[in-house]
Amino acid sequence: MIKNIILSIILLPFNLISQYGCVTDEYNKPLYDSNPIRYEQVEKDLQNHLRISKQKDNNQIVIPVVFHIVWMDNNHNLPDSVIHQQVEVLNKSFNLKNEDTVILTDTLKNWVDNFNIKFELAYKDPNGILTDGITRKKTINPHFSYYNDPVKDSHYGTNAWPTDRYLNIWVCNLVDGFHGYSQFPGGPIETDGVVVDWQTVGNGYYPWTYPNSENLACGKVLVHEIGHWLNLYHPWGNTTFGCGDDYIPETGLQDEPVYHTNDCYDTLFSLCNPSERVFVKHYMDYSGCDCMVTFTKNQVARGISSLMTQRLPMIENYERRPTLNGFEGTLILPTLVKDKLYFTFPHSDGVITIIIYDLMGREILKTYTSQQFKEISLNTSQGYYIVCVVYNGEVVRKQKIIVY
Ligand SMILES: [Zn+2]
Repeated sequence: MIKNIILSIILLPFNLISQYGCVTDEYNKPLYDSNPIRYEQVEKDLQNHLRISKQKDNNQIVIPVVFHIVWMDNNHNLPDSVIHQQVEVLNKSFNLKNEDTVILTDTLKNWVDNFNIKFELAYKDPNGILTDGITRKKTINPHFSYYNDPVKDSHYGTNAWPTDRYLNIWVCNLVDGFHGYSQFPGGPIETDGVVVDWQTVGNGYYPWTYPNSENLACGKVLVHEIGHWLNLYHPWGNTTFGCGDDYIPETGLQDEPVYHTNDCYDTLFSLCNPSERVFVKHYMDYSGCDCMVTFTKNQVARGISSLMTQRLPMIENYERRPTLNGFEGTLILPTLVKDKLYFTFPHSDGVITIIIYDLMGREILKTYTSQQFKEISLNTSQGYYIVCVVYNGEVVRKQKIIVY
């Protein structure tokens, strides 16, 4: 009881000031209310699959992803490098390859698992044209909300690519306090996908000009929202707080989020059931960049069952990306650059994108070529830069250079 009181005192100020805004529950409520039978069926299919599949499949599942960047202010038009950083965060987080799992105790490590899935930027658009998996649209709308979902409408934003073939992710300027929302499986196919605020995207090294999301600007909001897309609920259930069920025994009963604190608790006593301890260092809570480090065993099992039922067409429709042989022979010279950089590519069947960015991920230069030889004049200040060669939507070569 004493710990409960202490916990309430600890949590109270953060509840008031933190304003973490995952608005997934608010977004999905009218969808549920309009067709509850449909969602009951989705849950039944998922539970049936969970019952029959006790063993995890060893084959890696690939999820083709398209990012729709919808921007008005230049800051919101994130460079490709930040999207690539975000994809790296997804692939680390869903596969338990993120370094920050060191904060898990040995006991907690018994309760974690990985999805064995790969997120891959789409290399073909819905018409079969080669793409880098990123679309960009200048909007007239300064702020977006979950209400009426305007970012998915071509008037203000971008229509979804076919949602049985791609995971659609919209990046836009959400109203202050909202960080993201996602559509649970079972909703309308034309709006299926995930929406996140631009400030939460990347790996935390991009120089954000707006500090409100500092503790969430590390790419983990998208991990959390894709968790919802895989039918994972908040630990307090799919309602706006209250001791609801998330179908995950190890997260315990929780009546509200655990917000970020510097203490980063291993476990806490449940406010719903005082004798119970709850696991809080997982992605479906709100505990911030340093403390959200894993999915739990039953979250992974539930997410995979969701993929193998509601999301199965996407897995079955996946077309393997052609292998990118030969780019290891790319020459980028010199490493110490005065003003000109020279590229030699082993082949040139298609468009090659060259991006140069600084160590903070800011894009300095972007150019395209379909030639085997390319010369670039650099007009930048002295310092370190990263040269990135992108082919078929995939980074095939990265090299550090020094401009003097
Ligand atoms: Zn959420």
